[in-house]
Amino acid sequence: MTDTLIERRDLSFQLYEVLDTESLIQRERFNEHSRDTFDAVIETADRMARDKFAPHNSAVDKDEPAFIDGAVKMRPEVKEAFDAYAAAGFIAGRYDYSLGGMQLPETVMAACNGFFTAANPGTAGYPFLTTAAANLIRVFGNEQQQNTFLPHMLSGRFAGTMALTEPQAGSSLADIRTSAALADEGHYLIKGAKIYISGGEQSITENIVHMVLARIKGAPAGVRGISLFIVPKFLVNEEGNTTARNGVSLAGLIHKLGYRGTTSTALSFGDDAPCHGYLVGEPHQGLKYMFQMMNEARVGVGFGAAVIGYRGYMHSLAYARDRQQGRRPSEKSPEAPQIPIIEHADVRRMLLAQKAYSEGGLALCLYGARLMDDQHTHPDEQKRLEAGKLLDLLTPIIKAWPSEHGPKANDLAIQVYGGAGYTREYPVEQCWRDNRLNPIHEGTNGIQALDLLGRKIWQDQSHGLQLLMQHMQVDLEAATTDRCQQWALSLSETLQQTVKVTQSLGKSLMSESPDKVLANAFCYLHLFGHVVVSWMWLRQANAAAQSLASANSDSERNFYQGKLQAAQYFFHWELPTVAQDLVLLRNMDDTCLNMKAEWF
Ligand SMILES: Cc1cc2nc3c(=O)[nH]c(=O)nc-3n(C[C@H](O)[C@H](O)[C@H](O)COP(=O)(O)OP(=O)(O)OC[C@H]3O[C@@H](n4cnc5c(N)ncnc54)[C@H](O)[C@@H]3O)c2cc1C
Repeated sequence: MTDTLIERRDLSFQLYEVLDTESLIQRERFNEHSRDTFDAVIETADRMARDKFAPHNSAVDKDEPAFIDGAVKMRPEVKEAFDAYAAAGFIAGRYDYSLGGMQLPETVMAACNGFFTAANPGTAGYPFLTTAAANLIRVFGNEQQQNTFLPHMLSGRFAGTMALTEPQAGSSLADIRTSAALADEGHYLIKGAKIYISGGEQSITENIVHMVLARIKGAPAGVRGISLFIVPKFLVNEEGNTTARNGVSLAGLIHKLGYRGTTSTALSFGDDAPCHGYLVGEPHQGLKYMFQMMNEARVGVGFGAAVIGYRGYMHSLAYARDRQQGRRPSEKSPEAPQIPIIEHADVRRMLLAQKAYSEGGLALCLYGARLMDDQHTHPDEQKRLEAGKLLDLLTPIIKAWPSEHGPKANDLAIQVYGGAGYTREYPVEQCWRDNRLNPIHEGTNGIQALDLLGRKIWQDQSHGLQLLMQHMQVDLEAATTDRCQQWALSLSETLQQTVKVTQSLGKSLMSESPDKVLANAFCYLHLFGHVVVSWMWLRQANAAAQSLASANSDSERNFYQGKLQAAQYFFHWELPTVAQDLVLLRNMDDTCLNMKAEWF
């Protein structure tokens, strides 16, 4: 066991040596910050995550919230952690000073939040959802809604939820049935049921503000008829005081594989009492508003998956250094002492894979957060537009790649522990269970694959793809050492093949049924994801190779050598696995498409 959540040396390498986060302080929005303030806030997050979140991570997993006598009973440490996070200003961390925020870049806030998820994803869920719900009100709510709810959400007095899913409408939000009828007083009366709503009931905050998707009576069918409503658990008067109980109630708690600390709720609206909802923005624009926030949420899911992967890697690395077992194949004497398992090449394989997945995933998500910063704050308008397009294209990858590979990293962490990994005495099985949610929520990875190949690649005449290639080219050309140049060559060749197969799929999409072309969308997601993460590893390798020459201590040299070896692992062991995807995609393999339900 180790209390390291994310290796600070790695984080500072990624933030400052790869991403040049320090340059953000030249932008007007961040000009009161410095590298010192960024580091101080990261230090606070790391410490608070270790002191207030990590200690009860296992406890909330074993002693999960329970629905007793009409209320949710939770461990008191969850509220203490939530309150500490709010008091430190993290809920409003990225927002304007005028809202009580710290005007921190997304890149820095993402890094901070990484510590909380790595420490305790269940407890971290409550403040993260509150930030997301508050953001919807901040951007799309009217002045009265902002005044009524925002200050209390940002201070942590009220929490927030995102209530989209219904029993018959999960991946297919077009099928939402919850209804909204205009009442004489101007508010709407909401009626319906939602399922899997995280944080939908809890005993942490005075009020819960649900952001609910519902259909106004008479609205058109499908996604064009969905509106967004604020539905508070308690109504709030003009002074900001909570008054009467609103008609949203807990129908039941859902018991899960992992993420047990966050309540998962079935909610009913308007069953026992009238349920007031307040329309946000224009009618029928609700899904559009939600989707505008989706990039943020999806980068958040990818980040969570990468850092839970990272946490398992840290645990298994510490265990592998300590656990003595067996001898090298070349050691013939049974009396020779046993060696730490990290000395076995096969254990190093599993550690290297975890390092490649979690540090590669972290690099990808930090890059995504940086694109958000550039989209909103780059001084050059053209660059702002380009960052938005790149982020749009990469969002399915940023969500799906870490959420596929984070749980794989956790699976390997269990294997490194051997039998101990399979027991509940050690922390890695919980990491895997927690992380297993990430390929499912915020749009399953199957849906991300359809979004990438069915939509994002072709958007705006594939301008996003062209931008991506231009950005990659810069790093391909920046490779200077023999090793980096070799990797750049592999990446460049795979990129060319990816572009070729993309063009041929594009032609097929125009002439053939989309069912046939999109049948192998998941292979495309894997191919594209591996190409992008190879690029992330090349960027890290270029930076490490450059700094290695001037590194002035053993620990620094070891750090950079480790980066280069993990890059080598990715280029030798991972990138070649896309050959299989390329074959299936080139042939538009029809195995899955043509399998019939009756043949199973
Ligand atoms: C722990 C947890 C927390 C959650 N938190 C929230 C929350 O806070 N708020 C909220 O609104 N929702 C939440 N959800 C719901 C979550 O977003 C949905 O579970 C998810 O979108 C999938 O929907 P579903 O469960 O109905 O699965 P389904 O949509 O039934 O999908 C089942 C399978 O079919 C596949 N599939 C479905 N449609 C297609 C298609 N068109 N093409 C190809 N494959 C398809 C899916 O990829 C999946 O593999 C949460 C879920 C969980 C488990």
